[in-house]
Amino acid sequence: MRRSSTFPFVRHASVRLTLAATARARLVGVRDINERRAEIIVNETSHLHLAERRAADAAVLDKLAELPCLGDRALAEEVRRIVYRLDSEAALRRRERALRDRHVRARASADGTGEVTGVVADWQMAAIMASLGARADLLISQGDERTRAQILADLYVERLAGLPGASGVPVMVDLVLPVETLLGESDEPGEVPGIGPIPADLARDLIDASPAARTALRRLFADTDHLVAMESQARIFPKDLADFIKLRDRRCRTPWCDAPTRHTDHVEDATVGGVTSEHNGQGLCAFCNYATQHPRLRHTVTSIADLQPHTTLVTTPAGASYDSRAPAPPGNPADQFIQTHPGVWTRIA
Ligand SMILES: [Zn+2]
Repeated sequence: MRRSSTFPFVRHASVRLTLAATARARLVGVRDINERRAEIIVNETSHLHLAERRAADAAVLDKLAELPCLGDRALAEEVRRIVYRLDSEAALRRRERALRDRHVRARASADGTGEVTGVVADWQMAAIMASLGARADLLISQGDERTRAQILADLYVERLAGLPGASGVPVMVDLVLPVETLLGESDEPGEVPGIGPIPADLARDLIDASPAARTALRRLFADTDHLVAMESQARIFPKDLADFIKLRDRRCRTPWCDAPTRHTDHVEDATVGGVTSEHNGQGLCAFCNYATQHPRLRHTVTSIADLQPHTTLVTTPAGASYDSRAPAPPGNPADQFIQTHPGVWTRIA
């Protein structure tokens, strides 16, 4: 077993292909082709059959001899043009196949920013950038003092989140924070599920700004007793209870999974009498939720109902057992720091 991502392997394979392409180019007498350019040619022609690839190679090399100063991007476009001429149906099939994997991905960075990446059709990408750019240029011509890049980013947020202004508060941000932080009596960080901890001041700012932005900022306190006590006769979790469990768990409860929660799962299955309650509920990612159907994978609640944190015992098909503990709610810090001397911080229990 490799015990690592397949990505390096894919890269190695691609480099090997690239070297092959470089060798191929040198054989036919093109000396100034570097690895990067060889890689472009390999990638753009990878879906072609061998005979077509040879024809494409020959056409590309002719083109390079004719236009030796082509930039990498221009080269890629030339190769694509040649490929479309050779087999436009295959090219269409390749686009369709790639587009089936369209998606949006979000990743939080350590400095408090985050990247939202959408993989969409190229013409949609062009439409998005043209629309954002036109609006940004108009704002600049009207005296907007932000940089063009800042305006584009702000418009991106406004349009995707449906906000009147990028500095407003998101339509719905789940914010978990201790009552003391809300009241300004403590600077214990709040938490936004899917992002992680946020500074206490920012949590308070989000709440203060929320009525002005006419948005619903759901406030969930660490001591929401009535929600904890909720129990339902239904086999599916009512929305409030499901939301609570997702906020309690924040990430998939499978040990080491780390994915955000997508589904609320009965730890003891409803079909064998498991109740629909906070105690018998857990947040899982989509993949792990389907995996619970495995006959030899067992989840059992081991914590007592009112004892925090919520804990389950996960027994894998191979027989190994792990404790899965919900993260501690904000407001009960295990670590507190006091300044004992100027510049010297000491941890107290
Ligand atoms: Zn998972």
